Amino acid sequence: RMVRLRQRLAGSGALGRGLLGLLSRDKLDEDTWEAIEDLLLGADIGVAPTQELVEKLRTRMRVEGGDTPDARTVLREELIDLVDPAMDRGLRVSGADGQPGVVLVVGVNGTGKTTTVGKIARILVADDRTALLAAADTFRAAATEQLATWGERVGVEVVRGPEGGDPASVAFEAVKLGVERGVDTVVVDTAGRLQNKQGLMDELGKVKRVIEKQSPVTEVLLVLDATTGQNGLVQAKVFSDVVDVTGIVLTKLDGSAKGGIVVAVQRQLGVPVKLVGLGEGPDDLAPFDAAAFVDALLG
Ligand code: GDP
Repeated sequence: RMVRLRQRLAGSGALGRGLLGLLSRDKLDEDTWEAIEDLLLGADIGVAPTQELVEKLRTRMRVEGGDTPDARTVLREELIDLVDPAMDRGLRVSGADGQPGVVLVVGVNGTGKTTTVGKIARILVADDRTALLAAADTFRAAATEQLATWGERVGVEVVRGPEGGDPASVAFEAVKLGVERGVDTVVVDTAGRLQNKQGLMDELGKVKRVIEKQSPVTEVLLVLDATTGQNGLVQAKVFSDVVDVTGIVLTKLDGSAKGGIVVAVQRQLGVPVKLVGLGEGPDDLAPFDAAAFVDALLG
């Protein structure tokens, strides 16, 4: 997994290499610190975390008594500290008392929501769990078709409703079936129309309410496209305002040179990145591992 993460994050390697190059200079003058700051800001880490990190690096890289600190070691430790605040990254896919766990997957269209649902199903199957998928994005026929294809691909049944039907009713039926069959986990794909905050709140609120008539929602995953940078963060904030997000899935990290978004999103939402998307294939979803991530950055 480490090797793959490294390959996939090749784009982000530029950040790590750049930082390391600057930090390894013989003289760390003000121009150098400014360049380090620019690199971090350019990677979407955010203003406050950038300043904190630079402060820490300044302190630790100060040469005292002739011993030059090892730039790589210092940078690695401080980056891990930054991306890994004490947060529980475990995925809650099991319900209590024999009820299914219910994973609600939310996010703006195009971020990789449906793909992520398919990949999660794949992980569940690989873990010998029984699962059902709910195609509750009824507004786009293509979304339902796409999820059906994923279901076939990974061998998990997909519960779907009529096009344009009520998303909440599809979610309800899927979880009801999940309870009746005693499946381990139901994963619900939702619609990602960012019409307005109230509309979104009403829609997701209703989906969640009807599900919980059957079985508690154990995980609400917000899917965020790593390539959208600060704009994606604004959208993420809207979702986290309307529903209690319990984890972030950061997709398309393979195509992004902006790995710093991991830091920014955890800070802004106070929610851990639990999974990262590293490609379009069924196995391209991995648990987020801070040390592996930082090592990939540093190349
Ligand atoms: P949705 O509208 O949010 O459901 O998004 P989709 O699941 O349809 O994904 C949109 C596009 O992003 C598709 O072409 C996916 O193959 C692609 N995609 C999703 N996740 C990833 C990822 O982790 N890496 C890459 N490179 N592409 C992804």
